[in-house]
Amino acid sequence: MNTKLYDSHLHTSFSGDSETPPEEQIARAAEKGFAGICFTDHDDHDVVSEVDFDLDVPAYFKKMQELKDKYANSLDIRIGIESGLQTGTVGYQHELVKEYNFDYVIGSVHFVGGLDPYYPEYFRKYGKKSYLSFFECTLECVKAHDDFDALGHLDYIARYGGPYGLTYSYEQYREAVDPILEVLIRKNKALECNTGGLSRGLSFPNPSFDVIRRYRELGGRMVTLGSDAHSPETLGCEFEKTLAALKEIGFDEYVIYRNRRPEPIKIDL
Ligand SMILES: [Zn+2]
Ligand SMILES: [Zn+2]
Repeated sequence: MNTKLYDSHLHTSFSGDSETPPEEQIARAAEKGFAGICFTDHDDHDVVSEVDFDLDVPAYFKKMQELKDKYANSLDIRIGIESGLQTGTVGYQHELVKEYNFDYVIGSVHFVGGLDPYYPEYFRKYGKKSYLSFFECTLECVKAHDDFDALGHLDYIARYGGPYGLTYSYEQYREAVDPILEVLIRKNKALECNTGGLSRGLSFPNPSFDVIRRYRELGGRMVTLGSDAHSPETLGCEFEKTLAALKEIGFDEYVIYRNRRPEPIKIDL
């Protein structure tokens, strides 16, 4: 494969749920021959969780800028953020991206009604409506927010619903998913293809290829690619296979972001 590889979704110890020093992600990317990476540590503002998802943005930005300069000759390092989308955080996020010069902002829904589907409480509360409620909340969030570049792992909930006997396919939820895709296209936002689903044992990335195919059918042309690795082992997980699938769907390129602007990377298998 001649495609230049960039992993645009990576966590480090700046995220409450990772203990990986950023240097380890850099070393892994270099070892795998990647052209570049974008750090996207978690910032979920104003949530109650066992994990502290509030990012120390000044410390993060300072450290990442140092690393970016230090490795400038060997790896193209970009500074992003995975910002938790909630309808109540529109103003917060607007101020944040105005203050810091991020390369890339992933908007991700991790909390619905204050609950994270990572935990059983979510499924206890929403039951059979678990997936639908997640997609309805996502739609409200993408309508309300403008200060993001790509929607992260659109079907994040599919990582966690299996043990509760909930089935999932695009066909089952198309009426809830299509309006989300339509808003992204209208707002010129990218759809993230997150291989974290594959590294967590699913047979598809997040969102599933059927959702990505539908985004393209509806006119969407910007797909970003990220592993969502919280430790170095899964950096770039299944990228070659995933790029081949994207190409088969009709994407000749994927996009990476610098200074909040998309740059195309040709998919050359
Ligand atoms: Zn996420
Ligand atoms: Zn993530």
